[in-house]
Amino acid sequence: MAALMHVSDPDLLHEIFDTAQHVKQAIYGRRLVIFAPLYVSNMCANECTYCAFPARNTELERRALTQEEIARERGRSSTRATSACCSSPASPTRVRVSYVLKSIETSTASPMTREKSAAST
Ligand code: SF4
Repeated sequence: MAALMHVSDPDLLHEIFDTAQHVKQAIYGRRLVIFAPLYVSNMCANECTYCAFPARNTELERRALTQEEIARERGRSSTRATSACCSSPASPTRVRVSYVLKSIETSTASPMTREKSAAST
C-alpha cells in the first residue's frame, strides 16, 4: 500500500485506478456497504502515523478483549458482521493468531452461536 502511494507515472496510476475500480465493482457492485469495525485488541507493534494505537503511544492501557467481551460488544449491534477488523495481527508476539481467528469466529457468528462460542473459551 505505501509503495502504491508513491507512484507518479500517469500510465501506472491509470492502471492502479482501473484495477481498483474493477475490484470494487466485482465485490460490491452498486451496493452501499457500511463497515462497523470491532477492535478486539489494541496491542500493536507498528507505528502507523494516522492511528491512535501505535507502539510509541505509551499512554494507552494495552489489552485484548475476551471472547465473552467480543460476543457482548457484537451483540450491541443490530446487524450481522460479515467482516472483522482487528489490530491484533500487528503484534504477533503479544496476540496469537489463534486468538484472532477465534475473535473473527465470535464476531461473525449468529447470536446463539456467538454465545456458545464465547462460553467454550
Ligand atoms: S493498530 Fe493497525 S493502523 Fe494502528 S499502528 Fe497498529 S498496524 Fe498501524
